[in-house]
Amino acid sequence: MYNMCIPFGKYRENTRSFMNITQRYAKDLVQYIGGNIGAKEKHFPYGIGWIFPCPFCSALVNKEYKKKAQCAALIPNGNYSYVFRCSRKKSGQCSVNMLFPIFLKTYNPKLFAQYHRDREEAGSTGKGHDICKYNYFGEKL
Ligand SMILES: [Zn+2]
Repeated sequence: MYNMCIPFGKYRENTRSFMNITQRYAKDLVQYIGGNIGAKEKHFPYGIGWIFPCPFCSALVNKEYKKKAQCAALIPNGNYSYVFRCSRKKSGQCSVNMLFPIFLKTYNPKLFAQYHRDREEAGSTGKGHDICKYNYFGEKL
């Protein structure tokens, strides 16, 4: 996937829609997390996001219908990114809202490292962006 990275600004699904790296990762990630239950597109004030079963607390509830509940959402934040929010907040990890990069790092650190490299390569890290130039341990990736 890393080698398939398309530089920011050059990726267009068609002439009217445009997806940046974060949007591509978010779309793939919610499909993966949703699994058989799926992720549902939903309109939010800043655009289209998704609702899906919470990857952190769905395993912690007993009843099957509760496991399948689409209680988590990636909500567009008006800045070409998303905020992760779980309405159930049953685990420590989903008890706070998270910006997409933090959510990705919490959920899948390996995929986050790849995402970070894609962002670095596209020049969308550092000042003015929602992700720092180096990883969160202060090391260059
Ligand atoms: Zn949750």
